[in-house]
Amino acid sequence: MHQIAIVGSGPAGFYTAEACQKNFAGKVQIDFIDRLPSPFGLIRSGVAPDHQSIKAVTRRYEAVVQSDNVHFYGNIAVGEDIAIAELLDYYDAVVLATGAPHDRALGIPGDDLPGVVGSAAMVGWYNGHPDHARLDPPLEGPGAVVIGNGNVALDVARILAKTREEFAGSDIVAHALDALDAARITHVTILGRRGPHQLAMTPKELAELGRLERAAPVVDAADLPPLFDDALLEPGIRKSVDLIRQFAATPAGGKPVSIAFDFFAKPLAIEGDGKVERMIVERTRLDHRLQAVGTGETYAISCGLVVSCIGYRTPHIPGVPYDDNSGRFANDDGRILPGLYCVGWARRGPSGTIGTNKPDGVFIADQILADLPVAGGKPGRTGLESLISARQLDVVSFSDWQSIDAAEVARARTDAPREKFVHVKDMIAAKDA
Ligand code: NAP
Repeated sequence: MHQIAIVGSGPAGFYTAEACQKNFAGKVQIDFIDRLPSPFGLIRSGVAPDHQSIKAVTRRYEAVVQSDNVHFYGNIAVGEDIAIAELLDYYDAVVLATGAPHDRALGIPGDDLPGVVGSAAMVGWYNGHPDHARLDPPLEGPGAVVIGNGNVALDVARILAKTREEFAGSDIVAHALDALDAARITHVTILGRRGPHQLAMTPKELAELGRLERAAPVVDAADLPPLFDDALLEPGIRKSVDLIRQFAATPAGGKPVSIAFDFFAKPLAIEGDGKVERMIVERTRLDHRLQAVGTGETYAISCGLVVSCIGYRTPHIPGVPYDDNSGRFANDDGRILPGLYCVGWARRGPSGTIGTNKPDGVFIADQILADLPVAGGKPGRTGLESLISARQLDVVSFSDWQSIDAAEVARARTDAPREKFVHVKDMIAAKDA
């Protein structure tokens, strides 16, 4: 039997497990180890709560984790409860599928003022991630600035603009739903340091902004590139640019909330007296490499909240080589050290869709097969369980998770699929109930 530990139980971890099952044709034991009591990583805490259909992929992951040769050990922090060196002693292969849950720093003056939050924290807050349940972002408005032109910026802007009724059917947590319902934000500005042709927003998600109940997207036609240049774009981005053109051509229609796209706008500084009051922005133009360069023209946007959606970093794990420039584990095609691998965002950075992790998982499973055609006779699960019992770790198994899951479903609001527990202690209490 090959013994494989996968640290992190998000999409990258699950697709790696699936591919390892196939590569080793049943002669493998796979143990997921997750810091949280809940599995599924970004599917639970990153995918927007109003995008429930995307979360259906967990059915496929459930089938994997319930196979005879797979086990889930939740509520164990690798690097704190158990060292990487210990896992490497016990397993033939250890795969780090830990994602990129830390915000990249903005790195401008004022980015530490209260009211400046990163998207990992903001998304974690409305999705009930235990690390961010207490965020309490300032929603008094009237202005909020969302930095970045990717899908996360789009998610955050949409969530800030929705009515309570528009969250029907979502699993947004109650604390966020109530806070957003009481919010007084009427102007959301999405800052893009480059132009519409450099959008990283996908058309399906962008189109949703045009269908909101009380909010309307606003685009200044002066920011639009010449129409004939659209022909040079890839089909996906061309559709997004078509939508941006439609937004520019559509009057706001008297809706009380605006979501304004401010293109060619680079964040320079955040100012305020003890809290965010305004964002200072520099107008940009594109250079020959299509990168943003400042023009020297600056202006201020009044706001009480700044959400920076500019990408993520993978957290360090003691003993694992790290590349500070890229913010992920130092690796060569997924190989970190003998027997130690990384996959998904921890390998390639925060890009792509959930499905992108599937070929990535297959790729890493193939690397493991090439490196370890023969099992190393290591103890695997037996070794892990002896450590768990020696350290008296309060492990959450998959059937424990199913009890937590059932408790969340049982306490759901009438129009929601579940009400998540947002504190680890409450999840543990639910499994022990
Ligand atoms: P992203 O797509 O890489 O977008 C990051 C944005 O931040 C870019 O517009 C980038 O601009 C901007 N940016 C970076 N540094 C900046 C700075 N210092 N100042 C101003 N702007 C800056 O990242 P993301 O939105 O975090 O999304 C991560 C991944 O998850 C993406 O692959 C995304 O598609 C995926 N995702 C998908 C969905 C969905 O399918 N529904 C939902 C959420 C996330 P430049 O282009 O100029 O660098």
